[in-house]
Amino acid sequence: MSQFSQHNFKDEKVLIRVDFNVPLNDKYEITDDTRIRAAIPTIKKILGDGGSVILMSHLGRPKDGPTEKYSLKHLVPHLQKLLNEGAKTNVPVFFANDCIGEQAYMTADMLRPGEVLLLENLRFYKEEEKGDKAFAQKLAKLGDVYINDAFGTAHRAHASTAVIAEFFPKDKKMFGLLMESEVSSAEKVLHQSQKPFVAIIGGAKVSDKILIIENLLERATDIIIGGGMAYTFMKAQGGKIGNSLCEDDRLDTARDLIKKADAKGVCIHLPSDSIIADKFDANANDSTAPSNNIPDGWMGLDIGENAVEQFTNVIHNSKTILWNGPMGVFEMIKFQRGTKAIAKAVAEATQKGAFSLVGGGDSVAAVNQFGYADKVSYVSTGGGAMLEYFEGKELPGIAAIKNAQ
Ligand code: AMP
Repeated sequence: MSQFSQHNFKDEKVLIRVDFNVPLNDKYEITDDTRIRAAIPTIKKILGDGGSVILMSHLGRPKDGPTEKYSLKHLVPHLQKLLNEGAKTNVPVFFANDCIGEQAYMTADMLRPGEVLLLENLRFYKEEEKGDKAFAQKLAKLGDVYINDAFGTAHRAHASTAVIAEFFPKDKKMFGLLMESEVSSAEKVLHQSQKPFVAIIGGAKVSDKILIIENLLERATDIIIGGGMAYTFMKAQGGKIGNSLCEDDRLDTARDLIKKADAKGVCIHLPSDSIIADKFDANANDSTAPSNNIPDGWMGLDIGENAVEQFTNVIHNSKTILWNGPMGVFEMIKFQRGTKAIAKAVAEATQKGAFSLVGGGDSVAAVNQFGYADKVSYVSTGGGAMLEYFEGKELPGIAAIKNAQ
């Protein structure tokens, strides 16, 4: 595999698959630019070497070809602003209103070192998501080098994320800086973990996390289970859980996971107590109860104080920490204490030298919301992609480049 940082991009036209799938409001203003910011270091390195950059991305889920709402042209001013922050010379950003075709080819051709071209939404062509080879080949014509820096779509075998790689020679395809750090953080946790290794798994449903837990049973020393899914495990062990979230069709799965963990010597930690509520509401009455003895008519919406202490001890003793999923309904102030306390414990363990990775939608939102994002070792930008990675799957976007070594 060619290493991005060691490559000199002077006079090369570099085609980068980025993930610019950002949220826009009614006025087409970007409401969260995290994904664009995440790609800036890769783009700047290439421009700094004296190369030019052609960016391709999807935005939203357009159904019927070109649609104003999903046009990437809305991103140009902000991209230009970010690229020019701290730049010595002006970085022009051009836009092609089709990702393939004459205009795109001509603009790419005329691009000079230090210039950037953003292509229109790849998903205006249904061929993109189908992983169409001919379409991938048309995209490949735009650049001399192909870079995948779109970790958020690495789990998709789309034309621009995976298929396209076959049209570039070995030394002309590589990961960008964002992709490199996502992959190396995930590798550190899954394949080079220092023990004790705790996986903190939370969120609503057991069914969404079975594959992750199974994969982690092979690697972790401890698994903390919190959030709504903990109650299916409680009930599976004969506990009384009142109206708490429960997947009755997964009770056997939960028993099976506990049995497997026992056999492998992996310690599963369930919350000893819970903050309970008389309804699923921000203003519900609340109280505390043992998680395996919740009164009828009440439901567990957060882990309790004893559970916080129990989980914090495990986290503080760990050298590797993986966190996916909140410990409670953290969107409601009354039920966010557990998630906040776990974020704090992860930050403290990190300060003591543990490696911590937070990945997957809601736990990422939680560390951002509670101000711990820069106190953990790595916060992943890829929700679905990181989940599939944790499940032990090979991601097509990664395989397409890695397996070409
Ligand atoms: P997931 O997408 O599976 O990670 O689940 C995240 C969602 O789980 C969040 O919206 C939380 O509000 C929700 N959640 C966490 N704990 C509970 C709970 N005890 N009961 C109901 N929902 C919960």
